Amino acid sequence: MKILVLNSGSSSLKFQLFDMPSEKVLTKGLVERIGEKQGNFKAGNAIIEKPIANHHEAMQLITNYLLDRKNQLIQSKDEIKIIGHRVVHGGNRFVQPVVISEEVKDKIKELFPLAPLHNPANLTGIETAEKIFPNAIQIGIFDTAFHQSIPIENHKYAIPEKFYKQGIRKYGFHGISHKYVSEQALKKDKNNKKIITLHLGNGASATAVVNGKSFDTSMGFGPMNGLIMGTRSGDIDQSIIFYLAEQKNYPLSEIKNILNKKSGMTALAGNNDLRDIEQRAKHDDIQAQTALKMYANAIKKYIGDFTAKMNGLDALIFTAGIGENSTIIRKLTTVNMDFLGIVIDEEKNQNPNEFDGEIQASDSKIKIYVIPTNEELEIAKQAFELYQNNI
Ligand code: ADP
Repeated sequence: MKILVLNSGSSSLKFQLFDMPSEKVLTKGLVERIGEKQGNFKAGNAIIEKPIANHHEAMQLITNYLLDRKNQLIQSKDEIKIIGHRVVHGGNRFVQPVVISEEVKDKIKELFPLAPLHNPANLTGIETAEKIFPNAIQIGIFDTAFHQSIPIENHKYAIPEKFYKQGIRKYGFHGISHKYVSEQALKKDKNNKKIITLHLGNGASATAVVNGKSFDTSMGFGPMNGLIMGTRSGDIDQSIIFYLAEQKNYPLSEIKNILNKKSGMTALAGNNDLRDIEQRAKHDDIQAQTALKMYANAIKKYIGDFTAKMNGLDALIFTAGIGENSTIIRKLTTVNMDFLGIVIDEEKNQNPNEFDGEIQASDSKIKIYVIPTNEELEIAKQAFELYQNNI
């Protein structure tokens, strides 16, 4: 069965076509700069550069590519039985993947204020796909869903109760990725009952996973909290916001922009590309070295927090762009952690692929894995499972 996975952003549309249950990727690609002067479409060897006015036009390009005979992907649109959509915010409502209905779309719309950058774009993707593939079953898979298992003592804030009732609580993000990599670790060893997953991409978050379920996570009500990221601050003292607003007369919109877009590694090292920062650090650039240590320390803080709350740890997982590729960050986050039983093998850390992604030293009590994330496959798997069980 063919499942199309869509990840719709405000100006981009990423897609992957899977054959399920074989999990074979038949094709993948993306449309970028939708609505801008010049857009582009890339898939396989095909590149098209032209203005792409909206998501509907983007979806048409994808459909034409899929139907193009020489690509041998599908012969008719009806061959695509299921379309799985990534939706960032599912609030308290969506714990599992759901078949998209008018009611589900209304709920996604209701959640716009909680994810103003993502949910509107996700809904546009859904509505476009419904028009172009009217016979396919549309399924929504939510980034927050995995974290709905976080117990109340770990998801509630110590602020007046009425706000909790209004839905102000920790939701957490990157759930599709945290779920995928923690399941991979469980497949490697079923004794991996207490896991910390570190999703380190442009956005970054750490999650405590107990018996396959999210137990706590570093992002909160929104995606700014927790670890230091490419452009986001991570945890800061809230007083800074009030000081900037009240004493320095910064408008709230500017403070939001600073904490979202001008903070994190961008603020610490003048750049959000970790490869550049690493190069500078190697050449004795103190600013870059300090930025890397701070980045690692923010992660250590959560390793300590989660290990204490879980009363132990079996495995630590590194994933996403930085987690999968940065030898230095993996080293800095695990160095001097032997009191917790975390000891990395320096040689294995240089080349995790050669060791099946398992890089702890022989005297480490904790397993340390590097596991490439695959959010698209996770979406396809969840959509296929829902289809098999309920339809
Ligand atoms: P996104 O959150 O946008 O999906 P990614 O998971 O692709 O992001 O991660 C992007 C980050 O990964 C960037 O900071 C980039 O510098 C970093 N990265 C990618 N490759 C490497 C590498 N070889 N070494 C260190 N960092 C890397």
